[in-house]
Amino acid sequence: MGTKDKCAICSEKIELHYKSMDEWGIEGPICGKCYSKKLSEHYPGEHVRVNKHLD
Ligand SMILES: [Zn+2]
Repeated sequence: MGTKDKCAICSEKIELHYKSMDEWGIEGPICGKCYSKKLSEHYPGEHVRVNKHLD
């Protein structure tokens, strides 16, 4: 069991897969560490928000 996938950002072995969002421009799965890092970069605050400035 387990996965041999590597994180698309830090190249560490991924134990828990996270799916990057399209707007992040990342190909492939990422690890939880990078996921939360990206999340806070793109969506400051605790929750993921939808960009409304495109209206
Ligand atoms: Zn990573």
